[in-house]
Amino acid sequence: MVIWMDDQELIDLFRENGFKVTAQRLAICKFILSRGDHPSTDQVYHALKIDYPTISLGTVYKTLDLLEELGLIQKLRFNESNIRYDPDLQLHINMVCTKCGKIYDYKAENIQNMWNVIISDLGIKPKGQRIDIYFECDDCK
Ligand SMILES: [Zn+2]
Ligand SMILES: [Zn+2]
Repeated sequence: MVIWMDDQELIDLFRENGFKVTAQRLAICKFILSRGDHPSTDQVYHALKIDYPTISLGTVYKTLDLLEELGLIQKLRFNESNIRYDPDLQLHINMVCTKCGKIYDYKAENIQNMWNVIISDLGIKPKGQRIDIYFECDDCK
């Protein structure tokens, strides 16, 4: 599930954590929290540049890092130049197309149960988790 927050809740969260809220920051937050396609920093930047022509790539980077720090989004690092952002923090499978790079979320019905079994077998308390499957999507086949 994606965390849903209205403008005021986002503004409060930023302020509580000592960060200034700007229109651009707010726009970045709302954009990323509404997306299910795991955009990259570049994609966020290009999408918002239309409405916010003065936005910089640096602001996008910093804001996304901040959102990760605040626990609102998850950073999926594939390699140095391919970092994607996922607002879904619940256990799910990221299906990554190796051709076009699109990422589709897949929520297997019993994945949480399977995961609980694995975690209890391991006897650990995970600090995070990520499951990726690589494939070729329908658009690319
Ligand atoms: Zn995902
Ligand atoms: Zn594809």
